[in-house]
Amino acid sequence: MKLGDFDAIVCNRGARVARCQTACCRAKSTILCDYRVARGKRISTCDRRSCRRHAKPAGLDRDFCDRHAHLPDPSGLPEPDEQLGLFGEAS
Ligand SMILES: [Zn+2]
Ligand SMILES: [Zn+2]
Repeated sequence: MKLGDFDAIVCNRGARVARCQTACCRAKSTILCDYRVARGKRISTCDRRSCRRHAKPAGLDRDFCDRHAHLPDPSGLPEPDEQLGLFGEAS
C-alpha cells in the first residue's frame, strides 16, 4: 500500500509526520507493510510503517516492512478483513 506524499495521520494539532518504524531509522514513512497476519480470527495486515529504503516491493501495489521482507507472501491466508467489508458482519 503506497501512501504517497500526503500525511497519513490526520491531526488537528499540527503536522505529525509518520516515521519509518525500522529500528534507528527516522526517515519519513511512505509505505505500510501489506504482509498478511492473523490476529485471532481476523486477518489483518502488518501495517508497520516503512520508508522507501526499508520497504521491499512484494508484488502489485504491495510492500513489506523490514521484518517481513525476507518472508514469502502467506498466500494461505485470505485477504484482510478490511477488504471483505462488503460482506461484513453487523456490528
Ligand atoms: Zn527506514
Ligand atoms: Zn510487516
